[in-house]
Amino acid sequence: MKAAVIIKPGHIEVKEVPTPDVQEGDVLLKVNACAICGTDQRVLSGEKKVDVDIVGHEIVGTVVKTGEGVKDIHPGERYAIQTVIGCGHCAMCERHQENLCENGFKAIGYQWDGGFAEYMIMPKIGVDQGCLIPVPEKMSDEVATLMEPLSCCINGMRYIPLEECRHVVIFGGGIIGVLNALVAKARGVEEITIVDISKDRLELHKKLGLPFNNWIDSSSTDPVDWIMKKTNGKGVDAVVVAASVKSLVPVGIQMLARNGHLSIFAGMPKSDPVEPLDLNLIHYLELHIHGANSSVYRDYIEAREMLELGKINGEQLVTHRFELEDFNRAVEVQKNPAEGSLKIIINT
Ligand SMILES: [Zn+2]
Ligand SMILES: [Zn+2]
Repeated sequence: MKAAVIIKPGHIEVKEVPTPDVQEGDVLLKVNACAICGTDQRVLSGEKKVDVDIVGHEIVGTVVKTGEGVKDIHPGERYAIQTVIGCGHCAMCERHQENLCENGFKAIGYQWDGGFAEYMIMPKIGVDQGCLIPVPEKMSDEVATLMEPLSCCINGMRYIPLEECRHVVIFGGGIIGVLNALVAKARGVEEITIVDISKDRLELHKKLGLPFNNWIDSSSTDPVDWIMKKTNGKGVDAVVVAASVKSLVPVGIQMLARNGHLSIFAGMPKSDPVEPLDLNLIHYLELHIHGANSSVYRDYIEAREMLELGKINGEQLVTHRFELEDFNRAVEVQKNPAEGSLKIIINT
């Protein structure tokens, strides 16, 4: 089969590799589509280390073969892939919160080969955990690839009482910022403000007709001043930091209203994740700070429903499509905000 293989950091070759085969309990899928995400970029460049040389985790595929003992999954059926696979026996896994697995979860595209290939294996442990999520017949492969990133945003937003929030600020105008904002909107938030340092990104939102209210270009505007003026000094109900820039956390805290929520959605640089905060703001204003780490089954089911019912318009978010052969070109397009990409799909 063909696959995009990491030869060394920053050097990816699309080449022939052996097609994997099933062992007992595994499922072999033909990959229909796999989207590229920001984390993939960090892996491809060598900044983030993984155990495999074929990555990609926003996957939709069709079953071609099942291993001995697999029940209820059949050739021809179409599934989205749940990325996170827990140990299966710790207290968190028993609650189906494999994203918080006490033994450290493993993931498709990180410890098992991913979806930038014609075929992939869902290993037995993932099959048993329920990591194959059925895709509704009417949903396109492209839209179904959004279930993975959207599920992560749904998980991150679970801690924020969005139904009681009027105004939410999102730091980061890439696909993850956009999906977080769309979850907020779908859960009833009236006013959404997107902050990004790239004018191109903000212009792209307007061009695509994304349903947000305000866009702040933080290269020229101080977002705290802007928000405080806009809210008559009250601040906003929630802030989501969807960019791996740790100084955005204290900035976000400064624009929160009393009892406000801040979600650290993005992972921060592993080499230096420490950032000073004004703890008295958290204390006196009774602020809430939340984490967010991947997603689990229930989040995929909610993501699927939001896309299926049109609460989130998935079609609107897919800006580019490439064949697997053109993988390197797709990576370049995603890296450069001037290319105007939001979600890029690799058709395999
Ligand atoms: Zn991703
Ligand atoms: Zn576990």
